[in-house]
Amino acid sequence: MSEDLFEKIVAREIPADIVYETDSVLAFRDINPQAPIHILIIPKQKIRTINDIADGQATLVGELYLAARDIAKQQGFAEDGYRVVMNCGENAGQAVWHIHLHLLAGRPLAWPPG
Ligand code: 5GP
Repeated sequence: MSEDLFEKIVAREIPADIVYETDSVLAFRDINPQAPIHILIIPKQKIRTINDIADGQATLVGELYLAARDIAKQQGFAEDGYRVVMNCGENAGQAVWHIHLHLLAGRPLAWPPG
């Protein structure tokens, strides 16, 4: 059995609204969206936090951003703009210990975030 929530989504043990997939990356809609478009982009391979990214995983982490680029183009909001953010640890509010980019779009986004 897979251990964390997102590993279970990768293994199709729990359902998700998947919007993008490669051999190494999966993207699916957030269950509690904070914008009209809120997609989570994860490596299929588990990495707990940014602190745990190994030097040799730079390409894999870069692929998360390529996924954001491709999804933005495919879904038609690349030119309007969007935000990608990755929370790390408790002070940032990380709740799932498997790194994920939040891809937020579809409305003006305030800065700084709370
Ligand atoms: P974090 O706070 O760790 O950066 O973000 C975790 C995100 O995962 C949250 O935005 C939360 O809504 C989302 N999430 C939690 N459980 C599930 C789930 O079962 N399915 C999906 N699609 N998203 C989830």
